[in-house]
Order: sequence, then structure tokens, then C-alpha cells
Amino acid sequence: MVSVRLENIVKKFGNFTALDNVNLEIKDREFMALLGPSGSGKSTLLYTIAGIYKPTSGKVYFDDRDVTELPPKDRNVGLVFQNWALYPHMTVYKNIAFPLELRKVPREEIDKKVREVARMLHIDKLLDRYPWQLSGGQQQRVAIARALVKEPDVLLLDEPLSNLDALLRLEVRAELKRLQKELGITAVYVTHDQAEALAMADRIAVIKEGRILQVGTPDEVYYKPKYKFVGGFLGNPP
Ligand code: ADP
Ligand code: MG
Repeated sequence: MVSVRLENIVKKFGNFTALDNVNLEIKDREFMALLGPSGSGKSTLLYTIAGIYKPTSGKVYFDDRDVTELPPKDRNVGLVFQNWALYPHMTVYKNIAFPLELRKVPREEIDKKVREVARMLHIDKLLDRYPWQLSGGQQQRVAIARALVKEPDVLLLDEPLSNLDALLRLEVRAELKRLQKELGITAVYVTHDQAEALAMADRIAVIKEGRILQVGTPDEVYYKPKYKFVGGFLGNPP
């Protein structure tokens, strides 16, 4: 597992600045929530960590390794998106196995890993089904299993639960948090839902208009907001 360090990250789209000199360190095994309103730059920051976007300037480090120029496949990150579609023509088993098949992992090892991660996420009874035979929550668990099966150094999640109904959201939320701790994975969790961030995160980074306003434990950002905006957004206005 690794820590992630962002140094003076600027990301421009044309002459629009989506990330404005972001500095952030996510510790080894930490669950960091990236919390901010729609359009604040959360996904852009996550994709920069993943290597999907290259920063206009600044550096990304995994531990002391400068990964700024590395493509996603060389960073060993697991990605879970809000609308991350499963492969519709593949069974749950195949969906989870696919990243390992791409890496030419031996069949027996794939089988062992797929079953193990499926057990952890309580989808081991569903391995022969197709995505259309699953509920939304089950589909999202499969997407999480597929991200975890590669044993990523860093797990990156972009509003992964926002398409689920309230009850399922709570259930998968608890599951995710338990797994992250159990596996000791470094996780960055993007959300615009302050309750989710407060309940799940070790620390929260509050982002607005491409700038990180405050980083702290849930207690710190909730009870000691450095800006009016932070208090207001977290539901504890001055
Ligand atoms: P969030 O995930 O917090 O909702 P995003 O990171 O998706 O925000 O977007 C931040 C800002 O950058 C928005 O104003 C968005 O329109 C802009 N943006 C994001 N991606 C692109 C892109 N590929 N091209 C141009 N503008 C973009
Ligand atoms: Mg987004």
C-alpha cells in the first residue's frame, strides 16, 4: 500500500482552471473523502491521481515515486465510478476475473482471487449471473470487487453510491468502510454528500472551485471550519 502526494497541481481545460494549485497528502491506509459541490473539481482531481488526466503543472507521487507521467495501467489503482458499467455480456465471475485475465494471471490463481473478493463483498452466490439479473446495489458491489481483485495500491471511488437508494447506500457504505480497513487500502472517495464523508472518512478534504479549502478529521472540519463555506456545506453553519 502507498501514500499519495499531490504537489502544486494545476489542471486547465483551455483557459479554464479546474484545479488551482492543489496540495494534498493521503497517508498510507487512509480513507480520504474529497468533498465539494458539483463542478468543484473532485472528479478532475481523482482522474489526475489515476493518471487519466495529466496535470498542466505539478507532480503526483505514490510514496516517493514520481508517477506524474505514468499512464493509469502503470499506477496500480482501482477505480470505481458512479456509472461504471459492468460488461453486460459477461457473468459476474467473468466481470471480476477480467482485469486479471488481461494481466495473464494463471487460471487457478484468478479463480482463488475472484472467489475470495466475492465472498468479502457477499456476492459469492451471484457469480453465475449476468449484470441485468442483479439489483443496483449488487452491481455496485461487483464493480467494487472488480476494482479490488487487482489488489490496487490505491482505491479511487467517484461518487460510487449516488445511484443507489438510501437504504442500499447505507449498507454498501458500511461494507466499503469495513473492507478498506480490513485490507488496509489507501482510498480516495469523492462525494458531494457531507453525511457520507462524515460517516466514512478518516480525513476530509473540502474542495471549492478547484481549491482545497480545508483538510481535517470529520470532527475538525465539522466543529472547526476554517471558512463559512466549509461550515455551511457540512451542515454546521456559523
Ligand atoms: P466535480 O466532479 O466536482 O463535479 P469536475 O472535476 O467534473 O467537478 O469538473 C470541474 C470543472 O471542470 C467543471 O467546471 C467542469 O465543467 C470542468 N471540466 C471537467 N472536465 C472537463 C473537460 N474534460 N473539459 C473541459 N472542462 C472540464
Ligand atoms: Mg464529478
